[in-house]
Amino acid sequence: MVNEKMLALGTSRSVIRELFEYGRKRAAIVGAENVFDFSLGNPSVPAPASVNEEAIRLLRESDPVTLHGYTSAAGDPAVKNTLAAALNRRFGMDYTGENLYCTVGAAAALCCCLRGLCCSEDEFIVFAPYFPEYKVFIEGAGGKMALVPPEIESFQIDFDALEKLLNPRTKAVIVNSPNNPSGVVYSTGTITKLAALLNAKSTEYGHPIYIIADEPYREIVYDDAEVPYIPHFYKNTLVCYSWSKSLSIPGERIGYVAVPKAVDEWERVFAAIAGAGRSLGYVNASSLFQRVAAACVNDTADLSVYAENRRLLLDGLLSMGFTCVEPGGTFYLFPRSLEPDDIAFSERAKAHDLLLVPGSGFGAPGHVRISYCVPTERIRRALPVFEALARDYR
Ligand code: PLP
Repeated sequence: MVNEKMLALGTSRSVIRELFEYGRKRAAIVGAENVFDFSLGNPSVPAPASVNEEAIRLLRESDPVTLHGYTSAAGDPAVKNTLAAALNRRFGMDYTGENLYCTVGAAAALCCCLRGLCCSEDEFIVFAPYFPEYKVFIEGAGGKMALVPPEIESFQIDFDALEKLLNPRTKAVIVNSPNNPSGVVYSTGTITKLAALLNAKSTEYGHPIYIIADEPYREIVYDDAEVPYIPHFYKNTLVCYSWSKSLSIPGERIGYVAVPKAVDEWERVFAAIAGAGRSLGYVNASSLFQRVAAACVNDTADLSVYAENRRLLLDGLLSMGFTCVEPGGTFYLFPRSLEPDDIAFSERAKAHDLLLVPGSGFGAPGHVRISYCVPTERIRRALPVFEALARDYR
């Protein structure tokens, strides 16, 4: 006997993976250059040179027993102090190392927060379109996901719908900005309004409703878009971050949770997050990459290719008659599908060897996600294929 829920998770492939595998099979038949795969959100640019240089320097110069040894569960104190100082410089916070818990990427940061907060019957609110793993993470923590439908004109927040879902069992709201899959950055107005509503409801229910800010795309923004730092707007905010996208090191699994001092009883919340990490068996985040991340805290990969890809693809699609909210960040576009059924539309695109992920899986039917973290050349060659697809609908 095995756990049926885990078996289902372990055997079911995500729609995204299905498409990717399909693309590989098609590539073997028609040639890789004729398959236009926009399915995966895997960074396509190399890590900055500083990442490898620092890793090599550490491997050459550090005491190997310490370097490869366990760190404190929450992370190496010197690393955490460096990160805290960098965050304080950048966001004017008052973090010390004690406010930071190093994690195995943003996914683990989220799981630690959810598990650390979740009591029986608790609900966690998510805004569509959303990163589908949230449901897995929330349910894995023993919680229930409540989904706010998308506000498709802007992909900001539908506050009427949110207000209807808030109730005394609401423990937290997950805010992902810049957003996967819409690319949208929640505006200062949106975050201010959200903070006011959650403050009022926290008072009404007599307990805090937390914001879990999921920010792995914070550095990938365009046209100087401002990404509001949510702890400035709402005190009960837990910030989940990783270097997966900014440094292009998703396989190295390194991130953190920041628990600001302003969070009600922050030390208890921090300890519960640490307890969650312990119960999940994470022990500590990669000791080598904690140190690399601290040394590269002011660096990013060269993200300029994403800006170029975004402009090329967005202008191209708009000129073909697609409707798309202009994204302020990430490497995703989320246009409307050219027929209401996004799954049928994705199938139609597949007939052109164009791999687009249906929006239904992100809670926003009638859209498709296009991951443009691909070589620019692929986008150039894909534009006539998008045009052929659009012609099918004229
Ligand atoms: N949150 C969002 C919105 C993501 O898109 C991803 C990864 O794609 C993650 C979290 C997980 O990131 P990490 O690789 O740091 O665990």
